Parts: sequence; C-alpha cells; structure tokens
Amino acid sequence: MSSSTPARIPFNRPYVGGREMHYVGQAILSSGIGGDGRFTKDCAALLEERFGIHKVLMTPSCTASLEMAAMLCDLKPGDEVILPSYTFVSTASCVVRLGATPVFVDIREDTLNLDEELVERAITSRTKAILPVHYAGVGCHMDRLMEIAAEHNLYVIEDAAQGVYADYRGKSLGSIGHLGTYSFHDTKNYVCGEGGALCINSPELAERAEILRDKGTNRSRFLRGLVDKYTWVDVGSSYVPSEIACAFLYAQLEMLEEIDERRGQVYDRYNELLKPLAETGALRLPCVPEDCRTNHHLYYVLMPDAATRNALLDHLRARGIAAVFHYIPLHSSPMGQQCGYNRHDLPVTDFVSERLLRLPLYCELSAENQQLIAEEITFFCERQGRKRLAA
Ligand SMILES: *Cc1c(COP(=O)(O)O)cnc(C)c1O
Repeated sequence: MSSSTPARIPFNRPYVGGREMHYVGQAILSSGIGGDGRFTKDCAALLEERFGIHKVLMTPSCTASLEMAAMLCDLKPGDEVILPSYTFVSTASCVVRLGATPVFVDIREDTLNLDEELVERAITSRTKAILPVHYAGVGCHMDRLMEIAAEHNLYVIEDAAQGVYADYRGKSLGSIGHLGTYSFHDTKNYVCGEGGALCINSPELAERAEILRDKGTNRSRFLRGLVDKYTWVDVGSSYVPSEIACAFLYAQLEMLEEIDERRGQVYDRYNELLKPLAETGALRLPCVPEDCRTNHHLYYVLMPDAATRNALLDHLRARGIAAVFHYIPLHSSPMGQQCGYNRHDLPVTDFVSERLLRLPLYCELSAENQQLIAEEITFFCERQGRKRLAA
C-alpha cells in the first residue's frame, strides 16, 4: 500500500478519553504554560507515588531523559556501555554523543530482551553502565542484571520507554535501576504528543539531575531557597517540558488502569485468535515470563523466515491493515557500522528483526476489526502452507 492511501485499520491511535482538554484549558487560563507548573509537578508526584520512584523529573522526551541519564553516569570517551542492538536509536545515541562506546549484546529468544549471561561476558575494565531495554513492556531479568552491576560497580539505566505501568517481580519498570527513562510519545501507551520522564532511584543523583535539566543552573535550589543566587554551575541543557504537554499527560495518567485494561483486552483477543496458528507452528506469539506483568505495549508475531514475514506485511497492507516491522538493528545501521560492528555479530537480533511483525494495537481497535486481521493472517498462512506442500 502506498503511503498516500490511508489504512482502513491504522497501526496506532492515541486514546484521548479523559480530562485532557479540560486540563490543557486550565493550564492556559490559570496556572501558566511555562515549565514546572502545577501539572508538571502533579505528573511527577503521581509517577513517584504509583511506581515507587525516589524522584521523577518530567522531560520533553525519553530521548532527553536518556541523555540526562548518560550525563549523570559521567560517560566519557573510552567508557563502554552495554546495551541491545535490537532497540530504538535513542538508547545508543545518548552514549555515542558523549564520546563513549556502545557495546551491543544479543537478546534472548523468548522475551527479545538483553541476554543477561551475554552481558556478563561483555564486561571489561572500561564498562561503566548497562542499559537494558524493556521491549514491548516486558521486563528484563532485572535481578540478575542488578547483581552483575553490583559485582562490577556499574550503573544500570533502564530504558523503560515502552514499560510505563508494567512490573517485574512486583516492582515497576523504571524503578529498579539507578536511573530509568519513560516515554510519553504519541506511539506509547500514555501520551502527550512528545514527552518523557527521568526516574531517579539513587538519591545522590537527584541534585545534579535537576541542574542538568535546567540549563546547567541551580535554579531549582534557588526556588527552594537553598541558595541565594541562581547561576550557571554545570553543563546542562533545556530538558523542562511545557505545562501544556504535562496538563494533557496528567489526564492520561489518571487513566493508568483504564488504558491498560483496554489494551489488555485487545492483546488477549489476539492471543486467542492466533493461538490455533501458533499451535501449527505457522507463527510464534509473544512470551511474557511468569514474573512479569506486561502493560500490553505492543503485540507482535514471529514468522518462520524473512520472506514469509515480508509477504505477510504486504498482504496485510494490501488489505488496508497497517502492520509494521521492528527494528533495523543498530549494529547493522550506518552508525553501527561506523562503531565497528559487522552485520552478523548478533545472530538472535538479526533473526528476530527479520521475522517480527507488529499488529495494530490501540484502545479502540474493535473486536470485528481484530477478527478481520486474524482472518487475513490465517488465510495467508494456510495459502503459505499449501505452497510449501506443493513445492
Ligand atoms: C520510543 C522509544 C524511545 C524514544 O522515546 P521518545 O520519547 O520518542 O524520545 C527510546 N527507547 C525506546 C526503547 C523506545 O521505544
């Protein structure tokens, strides 16, 4: 399908079902729309309380939060950071922009998260941090990663962009590492157009985090009356979001459960509809370990090989169903090549990225449309099966 034809069933559609307009109006009429107003504080307080985080700072994006996290770990040229290649660009760019080296490690075949045993083997005397990504809102094996980090005196930064309101062993994703990062981008579960948060679980990092966020100044200490002058004290940037975004977001965060329930219904329905195909081995469904509670961020299937995945993508798009793939692994990207990686260094990552297909998932996806999607996939797989028999 060409990009000019809109899909009958879009891939994603943010759910705006609460007090978004009301709060944005309130921000405009009363509390002002600059940074760190009432809604920015309310969002941070809600996240701290609901997720058990020492301190949350609202930011303009998860990318900004990752940049702050990398600065807080004092990454310098020569330092190494262990992270997956199977992730979004921002996970690695926060490392590279400080001159440090991303060390890509392969993922587990079940959860598609960082393989903790390979992490341990990748540690050198230069390793400074581990940056696990909770893919699809399913937690990494955090207990093991924290143990490895403690043994080697490393920071752990959780990229929980996809993990807002998901748990690992009863703890919220983003609340476990020294630092964690959230995204409220339009494509995530809770949205405000563009937005993010930095979760600070190590209290000693909080003061500097506030300074980095506010252009390298001690403005927040000044506002609290802790210093009598407001001045430039460190290298920072502009990482304070607008009140308009936070007013919108606060309405979304008031619907943590409601949005998760709605997404969960869609997610469970896919599991039911596609189970027969999984049983024949035509495809594989997502894996959520016993000790993880997913936030139903995304639904994917794994096809037997690249050709079948691509043919199914084309088939669905031709039927007006906007399915997509995920990701071009970072180690095989032009920047990854510049960092010295070979295209086939990470076999599981390569295997998964060639075979994975994401299906539409949003709160208002109807049961009828899901039925239709499942029928098209079933039709495709049966035809594929007949082709295989004939060959
Ligand atoms: C979406 C995403 C990001 C970036 O989030 P922004 O808020 O758009 O900057 C980073 N990491 C992962 C894993 C993501 O999925």
